[in-house]
Amino acid sequence: MDLGIRGRKAIVCASSKGLGRACAFALAREGVALTLNARGAAALEATAAEIRTATGVPITAVAADVTTPAGRAALLTACPDPDILVNNAGGPPRGDGRAFGRDEWVAALDANMLTPIELIKATIDGMIERHWGRVINITSITVKMPITELALSNGVRTGLTGFIAGLARQVVRHGVTINNLLPGSFETDRLREGMRGAATRAGRSFEDQRATAMADQVSGRFGDPDELGAACAFLCSAHAGFIAGQNLLIDGGHFPGTL
Ligand code: NAP
Repeated sequence: MDLGIRGRKAIVCASSKGLGRACAFALAREGVALTLNARGAAALEATAAEIRTATGVPITAVAADVTTPAGRAALLTACPDPDILVNNAGGPPRGDGRAFGRDEWVAALDANMLTPIELIKATIDGMIERHWGRVINITSITVKMPITELALSNGVRTGLTGFIAGLARQVVRHGVTINNLLPGSFETDRLREGMRGAATRAGRSFEDQRATAMADQVSGRFGDPDELGAACAFLCSAHAGFIAGQNLLIDGGHFPGTL
């Protein structure tokens, strides 16, 4: 299926690794020109080179912290008029929400709620003027199903979800859609880091912890980031203009709800 977005321009935040990288790759395979971003320049340049070689699309790499005003300004200077914005950033620290002080809560709000809102505010009017736009926010299964050790994620991502629910309905009449992707467990550096911590706490090997965590999934496996990337590309496609304000859970059926 041709997704009908060849020649479009996308900013993909936090995209040198993991889910952001998979979204970038999937968009590049459809001929979308990319502005990629991460803090670490080496991994970012390596990903940019790999995607360029595989797909031939133009790529600008912006090494910056997307959670800072300067980082976001650098991204917007590199791509002032994106057709597609994929919001993503590192996840907040794991732990019991009662153990975090105000500064840690504010940092999580900044990274996982206010950063996407600031980038949307900076780009959405241009999309409306051009009568076409796609915004994807990578959030989490925690929006539907709280996970005790991800208290910060449970809280701040739900704030973003509420804001998006309203805004998506304001802009869809202008050809601009905003949707959220809610990952379950995808095997990325972040998931591996969480499993390493759990293995240490439980006094078992990483391999045992990984096998247990996989067995706990109703699918019996973790997601492949490319599976999320493909969903992202479809939601950004020409065919998805009537899908707006949705929260797409990609978790191999792990969330146990009927609806
Ligand atoms: P990952 O594999 O650790 O990759 C994170 C990427 O984001 C890296 O490219 C990293 O590069 C970049 N990044 C982190 N902080 C950044 C910042 N402040 N500014 C710019 N780039 C930044 O993580 P992931 O698993 O793909 O997770 C992506 C998001 O999805 C996170 O918010 C995570 O909590 C959420 N999520 C993941 C899962 C899962 O199962 N993997 C499930 C639910 C939700 P640098 O470190 O070099 O900046």
